[in-house]
Amino acid sequence: MTLEIVPVPVLRDNYVWLMHDPESGETVAVDPSVAEPVLEAAAARGWTISQVWNTHWHPDHTGGNDAIRAATSCTITGPAEAEKVSKLDRIVAGGDRARIGGYEAELIDIPAHTAGHVCFHLPEAQAAFTGDTLFAMGCGRLFEGDAAQMFANMQRLAALPPETRVYCGHEYTLANGEFALSVEPDNAALARRVEEVRAQRARGEVTLPTTIALERATNPFMRAGSVEELAARRAAKDAF
Ligand code: ZN
Ligand code: FE
Repeated sequence: MTLEIVPVPVLRDNYVWLMHDPESGETVAVDPSVAEPVLEAAAARGWTISQVWNTHWHPDHTGGNDAIRAATSCTITGPAEAEKVSKLDRIVAGGDRARIGGYEAELIDIPAHTAGHVCFHLPEAQAAFTGDTLFAMGCGRLFEGDAAQMFANMQRLAALPPETRVYCGHEYTLANGEFALSVEPDNAALARRVEEVRAQRARGEVTLPTTIALERATNPFMRAGSVEELAARRAAKDAF
């Protein structure tokens, strides 16, 4: 038995991730933008949300916190800034650990999109939740930090085991892929991937999770060789 992880698509392009441990019966909702569809998706599977984990404070990742707690008495874990939106039961930062049943998540600080932003990495489950920092073929915008921090984030995440599945906060994959192709038109792995993503989106499919290995091969921000290169690519993407 292993963890089950399923997406709940909400708002325009957000994914809330429901993670269920059949052994303990625990269910974690990662970054609930809203409450109703997330509670319904859990109920449809016979799951009850026991915890919420927030990667960062933005309302499209925390907006459902209070209503989910009111409905389930779950606990809420996240970086301090998330208290701008709702009271947390546990404030965490890089180096801390969180648990779902017998599985442990190691938290990694990945600031830049927001000043406080954590990745939940579950080594045994080979899964990582990267919020709005690492996307499929993309990275988050630099709202509260700089390119040097984002470069460090990309290096840190690139060092996770290559088979790690990466669960991101948004369905940005196709637009990211089109931009990535403009940066690396001769990257064959990237060209193949974008073809595949076009087909997946045409069928209305979710393109996540990605993997660290796939990102190392195709993500222009993870592949940036310097802070300056990442900064230039981030600026070009903002204008793309
Ligand atoms: Zn965000
Ligand atoms: Fe977001």
